[in-house]
Amino acid sequence: MYDDEGPVTDELLATFRGSRRWKRLVLELCTPDSVCALCSGARGPIRFDLRPHHSLGPSLDHVTPASRCRSAWQLWDPANLQPAHFGCNAGKRDRVPVPATLRGWTW
Ligand SMILES: [Zn+2]
Repeated sequence: MYDDEGPVTDELLATFRGSRRWKRLVLELCTPDSVCALCSGARGPIRFDLRPHHSLGPSLDHVTPASRCRSAWQLWDPANLQPAHFGCNAGKRDRVPVPATLRGWTW
C-alpha cells in the first residue's frame, strides 16, 4: 500500500494521517504521559479523553516537516516524530514557537 522508499508525493501528504498505520503510530509514540514538544506543556497535558482532533488531543509532529521529507520512510520514522497537541501541530509554521500567552487561533 505504501512504498517507503518512494518519494513523498502530494497524495501521500494528503492521505497518510488518515491511515491506520499513522493512527497506530500516534498511539504508540504519543503515550499518556507525553508532553507536547511544541508548547512544552504550556497548554497543559496532552488529553486522550476528548473528541478526535480536539486542539488538546494527541498528534505527532515531524521534526523534519512532512513536506520536506525526502522519502516516504521519513514520514513514519519514530526518530523524526515527537508528541504534540493536535492544535499546536496544526498551528505550526516551520518551527516558529507558539507564544504561551497566545489564545485562540489567529493564523
Ligand atoms: Zn502543545
